[in-house]
Amino acid sequence: HKLLHHEQRGYDGYRLTNLGYDYLALAALSKRDSITRIGNRLGVGKEADVYHAETGDGEHVVIKIHRLGRTSFRAVKDKRDYHKHRHSASWLYLSRLAATREYAFLQALHKHSFPVPVPIDCNRHIVVMSLVDGYPLTQIRELGDPAKVCNTLLSVAVRLAEHGLVHCDLNEFNILIDDEEEVTVIDFPQMVSTSHPDAQAYFQRDLESLYKFFRHKFGLDEEIQLVEYSEVKRTEPLDVEVEASGFGEKELGEFESAIQTHRGVDQDQGGAEVESDSDKDGEAEAVGGSSTRGSGNAAEDSVQNSADDKGLQGNLPEVKGGGDEQADGTAEKNHKAQSPTGEPTTAAVQRKMTSLEISQKVRKQREKNAKKQASRRNVVKSEAKKKVKSELTEGAFWGYD
Ligand code: ADP
Ligand code: MG
Repeated sequence: HKLLHHEQRGYDGYRLTNLGYDYLALAALSKRDSITRIGNRLGVGKEADVYHAETGDGEHVVIKIHRLGRTSFRAVKDKRDYHKHRHSASWLYLSRLAATREYAFLQALHKHSFPVPVPIDCNRHIVVMSLVDGYPLTQIRELGDPAKVCNTLLSVAVRLAEHGLVHCDLNEFNILIDDEEEVTVIDFPQMVSTSHPDAQAYFQRDLESLYKFFRHKFGLDEEIQLVEYSEVKRTEPLDVEVEASGFGEKELGEFESAIQTHRGVDQDQGGAEVESDSDKDGEAEAVGGSSTRGSGNAAEDSVQNSADDKGLQGNLPEVKGGGDEQADGTAEKNHKAQSPTGEPTTAAVQRKMTSLEISQKVRKQREKNAKKQASRRNVVKSEAKKKVKSELTEGAFWGYD
Protein backbone atom coordinates (compact mmCIF):
# COMPACT_ATOMS: atom_id res chain seq x y z
CA HIS A 1 0.00 0.00 0.00
CA LYS A 2 3.01 2.26 -0.29
CA LEU A 3 3.06 2.88 3.42
CA LEU A 4 6.65 1.72 3.57
CA HIS A 5 9.38 2.17 1.07
CA HIS A 6 12.12 -0.35 0.45
CA GLU A 7 15.31 1.63 0.53
CA GLN A 8 18.38 0.26 -1.17
CA ARG A 9 20.55 3.28 -1.55
CA GLY A 10 23.46 3.06 0.79
CA TYR A 11 21.67 0.60 3.05
CA ASP A 12 19.05 -2.11 2.77
CA GLY A 13 15.97 -1.35 4.80
CA TYR A 14 12.52 0.15 4.99
CA ARG A 15 11.32 3.58 5.78
CA LEU A 16 7.91 4.94 6.57
CA THR A 17 6.42 7.08 3.81
CA ASN A 18 4.32 10.19 4.41
CA LEU A 19 1.29 8.14 3.52
CA GLY A 20 2.30 5.53 6.09
CA TYR A 21 2.65 8.22 8.67
CA ASP A 22 -0.82 9.57 7.78
CA TYR A 23 -2.28 6.08 8.22
CA LEU A 24 -0.70 5.63 11.63
CA ALA A 25 -2.04 8.96 12.88
CA LEU A 26 -5.50 8.49 11.37
CA ALA A 27 -5.74 4.97 12.83
CA ALA A 28 -4.86 6.25 16.30
CA LEU A 29 -7.37 9.11 16.04
CA SER A 30 -10.15 6.91 14.75
CA LYS A 31 -9.52 4.28 17.46
CA ARG A 32 -10.36 6.85 20.07
CA ASP A 33 -13.33 8.20 18.07
CA SER A 34 -11.78 11.64 17.59
CA ILE A 35 -12.56 11.19 13.92
CA THR A 36 -14.82 8.70 12.22
CA ARG A 37 -15.31 10.27 8.79
CA ILE A 38 -13.29 12.52 6.55
CA GLY A 39 -14.79 14.88 3.98
CA ASN A 40 -13.56 17.55 1.61
CA ARG A 41 -10.30 19.31 1.71
CA LEU A 42 -10.87 22.81 3.07
CA GLY A 43 -7.48 24.26 2.62
CA VAL A 44 -4.10 23.45 1.34
CA GLY A 45 -1.40 25.66 2.67
CA LYS A 46 2.29 25.54 2.16
CA GLU A 47 2.81 23.50 5.27
CA ALA A 48 -0.46 21.70 5.93
CA ASP A 49 -3.56 20.08 4.44
CA VAL A 50 -6.85 20.78 6.17
CA TYR A 51 -9.85 18.45 5.83
CA HIS A 52 -13.41 18.55 7.04
CA ALA A 53 -14.08 15.58 9.35
CA GLU A 54 -16.58 14.22 11.86
CA THR A 55 -16.08 12.86 15.36
CA GLY A 56 -17.73 9.77 16.82
CA ASP A 57 -20.36 12.11 18.33
CA GLY A 58 -21.21 13.51 14.91
CA GLU A 59 -19.50 16.81 15.65
CA HIS A 60 -18.08 18.64 12.63
CA VAL A 61 -14.38 19.23 13.00
CA VAL A 62 -11.31 19.81 10.90
CA ILE A 63 -8.11 17.83 10.80
CA LYS A 64 -4.95 19.68 10.03
CA ILE A 65 -2.22 17.43 8.64
CA HIS A 66 1.13 19.14 9.02
CA ARG A 67 3.51 18.68 6.12
CA LEU A 68 6.71 20.48 6.80
CA GLY A 69 9.30 20.21 4.10
CA ARG A 70 6.82 20.29 1.26
CA THR A 71 7.97 23.64 0.00
CA SER A 72 10.94 23.88 -2.28
CA PHE A 73 14.11 25.11 -0.76
CA ARG A 74 16.00 25.78 -3.95
CA ALA A 75 15.86 29.51 -3.39
CA VAL A 76 17.43 29.43 0.04
CA LYS A 77 20.49 31.61 -0.23
CA ASP A 78 22.87 29.65 1.93
CA LYS A 79 22.18 26.12 0.88
CA ARG A 80 24.92 24.68 3.02
CA ASP A 81 23.13 25.78 6.15
CA TYR A 82 20.04 24.07 4.93
CA HIS A 83 21.91 20.88 4.18
CA LYS A 84 23.44 20.96 7.60
CA HIS A 85 19.95 21.19 8.95
CA ARG A 86 18.82 18.23 6.91
CA HIS A 87 21.00 15.95 8.94
CA SER A 88 19.50 17.00 12.21
CA ALA A 89 15.86 15.99 11.88
CA SER A 90 13.51 14.37 9.42
CA TRP A 91 10.53 16.20 7.97
CA LEU A 92 8.15 13.74 9.55
CA TYR A 93 9.67 14.55 12.90
CA LEU A 94 9.40 18.29 12.27
CA SER A 95 5.79 17.91 11.08
CA ARG A 96 5.03 16.13 14.28
CA LEU A 97 6.68 18.89 16.28
CA ALA A 98 4.62 21.49 14.39
CA ALA A 99 1.41 19.63 15.27
CA THR A 100 2.39 19.16 18.91
CA ARG A 101 3.26 22.80 19.14
CA GLU A 102 0.08 24.00 17.46
CA TYR A 103 -2.03 21.78 19.69
CA ALA A 104 -0.30 23.07 22.82
CA PHE A 105 -0.89 26.68 21.71
CA LEU A 106 -4.53 25.96 20.89
CA GLN A 107 -5.10 24.45 24.32
CA ALA A 108 -3.47 27.35 26.15
CA LEU A 109 -5.20 30.02 24.06
CA HIS A 110 -8.58 28.36 24.25
CA LYS A 111 -8.24 28.09 28.01
CA HIS A 112 -7.60 31.83 28.15
CA SER A 113 -10.61 32.65 25.96
CA PHE A 114 -8.75 33.74 22.84
CA PRO A 115 -10.82 33.50 19.65
CA VAL A 116 -9.29 30.24 18.37
CA PRO A 117 -10.76 26.88 17.28
CA VAL A 118 -11.45 24.41 20.08
CA PRO A 119 -8.64 21.86 20.33
CA ILE A 120 -9.97 18.30 20.26
CA ASP A 121 -7.12 15.87 19.78
CA CYS A 122 -3.67 15.44 18.35
CA ASN A 123 -1.69 12.46 17.15
CA ARG A 124 1.68 12.54 15.44
CA HIS A 125 1.41 15.24 12.74
CA ILE A 126 -2.37 15.64 12.82
CA VAL A 127 -4.37 18.12 14.92
CA VAL A 128 -8.13 17.79 15.32
CA MET A 129 -9.97 21.03 16.13
CA SER A 130 -13.44 22.49 15.86
CA LEU A 131 -14.67 23.59 12.44
CA VAL A 132 -14.97 27.36 12.26
CA ASP A 133 -18.08 28.51 10.45
CA GLY A 134 -16.47 31.32 8.53
CA TYR A 135 -14.24 32.31 5.65
CA PRO A 136 -10.64 33.42 5.47
CA LEU A 137 -10.45 37.21 5.48
CA THR A 138 -8.78 37.10 2.05
CA GLN A 139 -12.04 35.91 0.53
CA ILE A 140 -14.17 38.67 2.07
CA ARG A 141 -15.06 41.55 -0.25
CA GLU A 142 -16.95 43.79 2.12
CA LEU A 143 -17.23 44.31 5.83
CA GLY A 144 -20.00 46.18 7.67
CA ASP A 145 -17.60 47.66 10.18
CA PRO A 146 -13.98 47.22 9.06
CA ALA A 147 -12.64 49.50 11.81
CA LYS A 148 -14.20 47.31 14.48
CA VAL A 149 -12.82 44.09 12.96
CA CYS A 150 -9.38 45.67 12.56
CA ASN A 151 -9.39 46.89 16.16
CA THR A 152 -10.47 43.49 17.44
CA LEU A 153 -7.60 41.84 15.59
CA LEU A 154 -5.05 44.36 16.74
CA SER A 155 -6.21 43.89 20.29
CA VAL A 156 -5.90 40.10 19.92
CA ALA A 157 -2.26 40.65 18.88
CA VAL A 158 -1.66 42.90 21.88
CA ARG A 159 -3.37 40.51 24.27
CA LEU A 160 -1.26 37.67 22.88
CA ALA A 161 1.87 39.71 23.60
CA GLU A 162 0.60 40.41 27.11
CA HIS A 163 0.46 36.63 27.48
CA GLY A 164 4.03 36.33 26.26
CA LEU A 165 3.32 35.33 22.66
CA VAL A 166 3.67 36.73 19.13
CA HIS A 167 1.69 35.06 16.35
CA CYS A 168 4.24 35.89 13.60
CA ASP A 169 1.84 35.16 10.75
CA LEU A 170 -1.22 37.17 11.70
CA ASN A 171 -2.48 37.99 8.24
CA GLU A 172 -5.66 37.74 6.18
CA PHE A 173 -4.97 34.06 5.39
CA ASN A 174 -4.95 33.05 9.03
CA ILE A 175 -8.02 34.94 10.16
CA LEU A 176 -11.47 33.44 9.68
CA ILE A 177 -14.53 35.62 9.87
CA ASP A 178 -18.20 34.60 10.20
CA ASP A 179 -21.47 36.24 9.13
CA GLU A 180 -21.60 38.25 12.37
CA GLU A 181 -18.10 39.52 11.63
CA GLU A 182 -16.68 37.63 14.61
CA VAL A 183 -13.07 36.65 14.07
CA THR A 184 -11.19 33.43 14.75
CA VAL A 185 -7.42 33.29 14.56
CA ILE A 186 -5.78 30.10 13.27
CA ASP A 187 -2.37 28.66 12.34
CA PHE A 188 0.00 28.73 15.30
CA PRO A 189 3.05 26.52 14.84
CA GLN A 190 5.32 29.47 14.07
CA MET A 191 4.22 31.51 17.09
CA VAL A 192 7.12 32.60 19.31
CA SER A 193 7.59 33.70 22.87
CA THR A 194 8.04 37.42 23.57
CA SER A 195 11.44 36.45 24.94
CA HIS A 196 12.50 35.45 21.41
CA PRO A 197 15.23 37.84 20.19
CA ASP A 198 13.15 38.87 17.15
CA ALA A 199 9.79 39.03 18.95
CA GLN A 200 9.55 42.80 18.72
CA ALA A 201 10.10 42.81 14.95
CA TYR A 202 7.53 40.05 14.43
CA PHE A 203 5.03 41.83 16.64
CA GLN A 204 5.40 45.07 14.71
CA ARG A 205 5.22 43.29 11.39
CA ASP A 206 1.97 41.56 12.43
CA LEU A 207 0.38 44.84 13.49
CA GLU A 208 1.56 46.89 10.55
CA SER A 209 0.61 44.36 7.90
CA LEU A 210 -2.88 43.94 9.38
CA TYR A 211 -3.43 47.67 9.47
CA LYS A 212 -2.13 48.08 5.92
CA PHE A 213 -4.39 45.30 4.70
CA PHE A 214 -7.48 46.95 6.18
CA ARG A 215 -6.56 50.31 4.69
CA HIS A 216 -6.02 48.92 1.21
CA LYS A 217 -8.75 46.35 0.99
CA PHE A 218 -11.55 47.90 3.01
CA GLY A 219 -10.60 51.55 2.61
CA LEU A 220 -10.17 52.01 6.34
CA ASP A 221 -9.36 55.69 6.70
CA GLU A 222 -9.39 55.95 10.47
CA GLU A 223 -6.02 56.65 11.96
CA ILE A 224 -5.31 53.87 14.40
CA GLN A 225 -2.49 54.33 16.85
CA LEU A 226 -0.60 51.07 16.74
CA VAL A 227 0.57 49.84 20.13
CA GLU A 228 4.32 49.99 20.68
CA TYR A 229 5.93 46.74 21.71
CA SER A 230 7.60 48.46 24.65
CA GLU A 231 4.17 49.50 25.99
CA VAL A 232 2.95 45.91 26.26
CA LYS A 233 2.93 44.62 29.80
CA ARG A 234 3.23 40.90 30.30
CA THR A 235 0.48 39.54 32.48
CA GLU A 236 0.30 35.77 32.24
CA PRO A 237 3.24 33.99 30.66
CA LEU A 238 1.51 31.44 28.44
CA ASP A 239 4.74 30.80 26.56
CA VAL A 240 6.15 29.03 29.60
CA GLU A 241 2.97 27.00 29.99
CA VAL A 242 3.15 25.91 26.35
CA GLU A 243 6.78 25.01 26.52
CA ALA A 244 6.05 22.86 29.54
CA SER A 245 3.56 20.77 27.56
CA GLY A 246 5.71 18.18 25.85
CA PHE A 247 7.97 20.67 24.19
CA GLY A 248 11.44 20.47 25.64
CA GLU A 249 14.30 22.80 24.81
CA LYS A 250 15.75 20.35 22.30
CA GLU A 251 12.48 20.18 20.35
CA LEU A 252 12.06 23.93 20.50
CA GLY A 253 15.56 24.50 19.18
CA GLU A 254 15.09 22.05 16.30
CA PHE A 255 11.71 23.41 15.47
CA GLU A 256 12.68 27.05 15.59
CA SER A 257 15.61 26.48 13.29
CA ALA A 258 13.30 24.74 10.81
CA ILE A 259 10.78 27.57 11.01
CA GLN A 260 13.59 30.04 10.57
CA THR A 261 14.59 28.26 7.39
CA HIS A 262 11.03 28.56 6.14
CA ARG A 263 10.91 32.25 6.92
CA GLY A 264 14.14 32.62 5.02
CA VAL A 265 12.54 30.99 1.99
CA ASP A 266 9.51 33.27 2.16
CA GLN A 267 11.61 36.37 2.38
CA ASP A 268 13.98 35.29 -0.36
CA GLN A 269 11.40 34.44 -2.94
CA GLY A 270 8.42 36.44 -1.78
CA GLY A 271 6.24 33.39 -1.26
CA ALA A 272 7.03 29.75 -1.41
CA GLU A 273 6.87 27.36 -4.29
CA VAL A 274 4.77 24.38 -3.45
CA GLU A 275 6.30 22.24 -6.13
CA SER A 276 9.87 21.49 -6.70
CA ASP A 277 10.99 20.53 -10.16
CA SER A 278 13.60 17.99 -10.73
CA ASP A 279 16.51 20.26 -11.02
CA LYS A 280 18.31 22.85 -13.00
CA ASP A 281 20.91 24.08 -10.66
CA GLY A 282 22.32 20.92 -9.27
CA GLU A 283 20.24 20.95 -6.12
CA ALA A 284 18.99 17.51 -5.30
CA GLU A 285 15.27 18.13 -4.97
CA ALA A 286 13.26 15.36 -6.55
CA VAL A 287 9.54 14.96 -6.96
CA GLY A 288 7.34 12.11 -5.81
CA GLY A 289 3.57 12.23 -6.21
CA SER A 290 1.55 11.34 -3.16
CA SER A 291 -1.97 10.20 -3.11
CA THR A 292 -3.73 11.51 -0.06
CA ARG A 293 -6.80 9.88 1.27
CA GLY A 294 -9.78 10.08 -0.98
CA SER A 295 -9.49 13.66 -2.08
CA GLY A 296 -10.37 12.35 -5.51
CA ASN A 297 -8.20 14.93 -7.14
CA ALA A 298 -4.87 13.56 -8.17
CA ALA A 299 -3.71 16.87 -9.61
CA GLU A 300 -4.27 18.63 -6.35
CA ASP A 301 -2.65 15.95 -4.31
CA SER A 302 0.44 17.15 -2.67
CA VAL A 303 3.75 17.10 -4.40
CA GLN A 304 6.46 16.23 -1.99
CA ASN A 305 10.08 16.89 -2.29
CA SER A 306 12.76 14.64 -1.02
CA ALA A 307 14.01 17.02 1.59
CA ASP A 308 14.43 14.32 4.19
CA ASP A 309 16.11 11.85 1.93
CA LYS A 310 19.47 11.28 3.44
CA GLY A 311 20.29 8.48 1.00
CA LEU A 312 20.11 10.79 -1.99
CA GLN A 313 21.97 13.51 -0.26
CA GLY A 314 24.62 11.07 0.89
CA ASN A 315 25.44 10.27 -2.72
CA LEU A 316 26.06 13.88 -3.64
CA PRO A 317 28.50 15.39 -1.22
CA GLU A 318 30.09 17.61 -3.84
CA VAL A 319 26.85 19.48 -4.56
CA LYS A 320 27.12 21.28 -1.25
CA GLY A 321 30.28 23.16 -1.96
CA GLY A 322 29.62 23.67 -5.66
CA GLY A 323 28.84 27.36 -5.54
CA ASP A 324 32.12 28.44 -4.03
CA GLU A 325 34.52 27.66 -6.83
CA GLN A 326 34.72 30.04 -9.71
CA ALA A 327 35.81 28.70 -13.04
CA ASP A 328 37.79 31.77 -14.00
CA GLY A 329 39.56 32.04 -10.70
CA THR A 330 38.07 35.47 -9.93
CA ALA A 331 37.46 34.42 -6.35
CA GLU A 332 41.15 34.77 -5.81
CA LYS A 333 41.13 38.45 -6.69
CA ASN A 334 39.40 39.12 -3.45
CA HIS A 335 41.94 37.30 -1.38
CA LYS A 336 44.46 39.25 0.59
CA ALA A 337 48.05 38.62 -0.44
CA GLN A 338 48.85 37.09 2.91
CA SER A 339 46.85 34.92 5.19
CA PRO A 340 46.63 35.94 8.87
CA THR A 341 49.43 33.48 9.59
CA GLY A 342 51.75 35.29 7.19
CA GLU A 343 51.83 32.58 4.55
CA PRO A 344 51.59 33.75 0.94
CA THR A 345 48.16 32.97 -0.54
CA THR A 346 47.42 31.45 -3.93
CA ALA A 347 46.86 34.95 -5.32
CA ALA A 348 50.32 36.05 -4.28
CA VAL A 349 51.92 32.96 -5.78
CA GLN A 350 49.97 33.46 -8.97
CA ARG A 351 51.24 36.99 -9.44
CA LYS A 352 54.70 35.52 -10.05
CA MET A 353 53.46 33.50 -13.03
CA THR A 354 53.65 34.77 -16.56
CA SER A 355 50.39 35.78 -18.21
CA LEU A 356 50.64 32.79 -20.57
CA GLU A 357 50.96 30.39 -17.69
CA ILE A 358 48.00 32.00 -16.02
CA SER A 359 45.75 31.75 -19.05
CA GLN A 360 46.74 28.09 -19.52
CA LYS A 361 45.99 27.41 -15.91
CA VAL A 362 42.64 29.17 -16.11
CA ARG A 363 41.67 27.22 -19.24
CA LYS A 364 42.56 23.91 -17.60
CA GLN A 365 40.63 24.85 -14.52
CA ARG A 366 37.61 25.78 -16.66
CA GLU A 367 37.68 22.45 -18.45
CA LYS A 368 38.00 20.59 -15.19
CA ASN A 369 35.09 22.48 -13.65
CA ALA A 370 32.88 21.96 -16.70
CA LYS A 371 33.52 18.20 -16.54
CA LYS A 372 32.82 18.14 -12.84
CA GLN A 373 29.61 20.05 -13.28
CA ALA A 374 28.39 17.82 -16.10
CA SER A 375 28.93 14.67 -14.08
CA ARG A 376 27.29 16.26 -11.07
CA ARG A 377 24.22 17.13 -13.18
CA ASN A 378 24.01 13.58 -14.50
CA VAL A 379 24.07 12.09 -11.04
CA VAL A 380 21.41 14.51 -9.81
CA LYS A 381 19.22 13.96 -12.86
CA SER A 382 19.35 10.20 -12.68
CA GLU A 383 18.62 10.24 -8.96
CA ALA A 384 15.70 12.60 -9.55
CA LYS A 385 14.32 10.34 -12.26
CA LYS A 386 14.50 7.31 -10.01
CA LYS A 387 12.66 9.29 -7.39
CA VAL A 388 9.82 10.29 -9.70
CA LYS A 389 9.51 6.72 -10.86
CA SER A 390 9.07 5.41 -7.36
CA GLU A 391 6.02 7.65 -6.96
CA LEU A 392 6.37 7.52 -3.26
CA THR A 393 6.18 10.30 -0.80
CA GLU A 394 9.19 10.68 1.33
CA GLY A 395 9.35 9.47 4.86
CA ALA A 396 11.76 8.54 7.55
CA PHE A 397 12.50 5.67 9.81
CA TRP A 398 10.90 6.79 12.93
CA GLY A 399 7.51 8.01 13.96
CA TYR A 400 6.09 5.14 15.98
CA ASP A 401 4.55 6.17 19.26
P1 ADP B 1 -1.34 26.54 6.81
O1 ADP B 1 -0.28 26.36 7.84
O2 ADP B 1 -1.21 25.56 5.71
O3 ADP B 1 -1.50 27.95 6.35
P2 ADP B 1 -3.88 26.91 8.22
O4 ADP B 1 -4.04 26.50 9.64
O5 ADP B 1 -3.72 28.37 7.97
O6 ADP B 1 -2.70 26.08 7.55
O7 ADP B 1 -5.13 26.36 7.41
C1 ADP B 1 -5.23 26.45 6.00
C2 ADP B 1 -6.68 26.77 5.61
O8 ADP B 1 -7.57 25.76 6.11
C3 ADP B 1 -7.19 28.06 6.19
O9 ADP B 1 -6.91 29.15 5.38
C4 ADP B 1 -8.66 27.83 6.31
O10 ADP B 1 -9.31 28.09 5.08
C5 ADP B 1 -8.77 26.35 6.58
N1 ADP B 1 -8.91 26.09 8.03
C6 ADP B 1 -7.92 25.84 8.91
N2 ADP B 1 -8.38 25.62 10.16
C7 ADP B 1 -9.72 25.73 10.06
C8 ADP B 1 -10.80 25.59 11.01
N3 ADP B 1 -10.58 25.30 12.29
N4 ADP B 1 -12.06 25.77 10.56
C9 ADP B 1 -12.29 26.05 9.26
N5 ADP B 1 -11.35 26.17 8.31
C10 ADP B 1 -10.07 26.01 8.70
MG1 MG C 1 -2.19 29.59 7.27
